[in-house]
Amino acid sequence: MPGFEVFGEEEKREIMEVLDTGVLFRYEFPEQRKGIYKVRTFEEKFAAYSGAKYGQAVTSGTVALKVALAVLGVGPGDEVITQGFTFVATWEAILDIGAVPVFTEIDETLNMDPADLEKKITDKTRAIIPVHMMGSAARIEEIVAIADRHGIPVIEDTAQAAGAKLNGKGLGSFGRLGTFSFDAVKTMTTGEGGMVITDDEELWRKMSEYHDHGHDHAQNPGGRGGEGRSFIGFNYRMMELQGAIGLAQLAKLDLMIETQKLHKTRLKEAAAGIPGATFRTQLDEEGDNATFFAFLMPDATKAQAVNAVLKAEGCGAIYFADNTWHYYPKWEHLLGGKTLAESGWPFVSHGKRRVVYDKDALPQSAEIMGRCLVFQVPIKMSEERLQEICAALEKAASAV
Ligand SMILES: *Cc1c(COP(=O)(O)O)cnc(C)c1O
Repeated sequence: MPGFEVFGEEEKREIMEVLDTGVLFRYEFPEQRKGIYKVRTFEEKFAAYSGAKYGQAVTSGTVALKVALAVLGVGPGDEVITQGFTFVATWEAILDIGAVPVFTEIDETLNMDPADLEKKITDKTRAIIPVHMMGSAARIEEIVAIADRHGIPVIEDTAQAAGAKLNGKGLGSFGRLGTFSFDAVKTMTTGEGGMVITDDEELWRKMSEYHDHGHDHAQNPGGRGGEGRSFIGFNYRMMELQGAIGLAQLAKLDLMIETQKLHKTRLKEAAAGIPGATFRTQLDEEGDNATFFAFLMPDATKAQAVNAVLKAEGCGAIYFADNTWHYYPKWEHLLGGKTLAESGWPFVSHGKRRVVYDKDALPQSAEIMGRCLVFQVPIKMSEERLQEICAALEKAASAV
């Protein structure tokens, strides 16, 4: 997750262009801004890069999900399906729009299991959000086919997979909408920020209005503030400074991914020597954005034994089974239905608990996560550190 690693002169130059005009707001100030529209340009370039017609920049990846759900008309009483291995933000957005999250199993892609998705669809399902976790594709073509059969729109949570592809097509461009995050630790960063991409002009116009208090950004006789409003919006506007940084980071994205791929290949070769080790299923190895490297042991005991050796060598892997931010059984606040709403909504209605989450509801995911070990793959990895990790993996190979 390396965008911050390559922050440099290019970003500073872009930022200075904005500071020279003094216009930090993405709209208005036509004379003062001297033709500089950083957020708008970033939207156009990012959408084109990702293979979509339109881009809508917003303040975060979490908001990107919320805006996508909003323009699909999702709200209270609806269910939205996502996977039990994702960052909490995915289901926070579902709850924030008033809907209830439903969780599917993952398979060895470490993403949504299409077979389980089919089982979780009900007559209340209004959207499906597969997540391309750790830079690699979910079975998005199968998922979209299932969703189409049921007439349910797909939002791809592509927060961790900017620049990744499946058979040459950008992740995020398969569903009705694709969302991205540019937070401080993502593949490319604007400090805080997000984007929604789509080919659907009407959805894009709705996003544009919704994210800016209902302002209509098409040319209109009333001018900004004088236009009529189609619906009630909110404020999720991105700043020009973020747009400027985004442009500089986007220009570096291909190179970042290429460098990570080289490092990831080295780690993969070293891990291949561990008896019983297999790799996460990748539908398109070439399209991987390579921010993470995941491998699986035959069982949890072996995975922990391998990680004990890695840790002793100062090279411990991430064990997501114990991670409290990304994995369903560890989300105690969700399982307990703890919200700030005194009514308990949406988990409680009229004093009665209406949504109950069982900690053990995803046994297939638990089985997979229990034997999964993950390394983050930085861009600026010294040869020394790379050799250290490879040596630790070799040592682990002879220990199990
Ligand atoms: C980071 C992340 C988000 C949220 O992005 P923010 O910009 O931090 O709000 C959403 N989904 C996933 C899978 C993420 O990793």
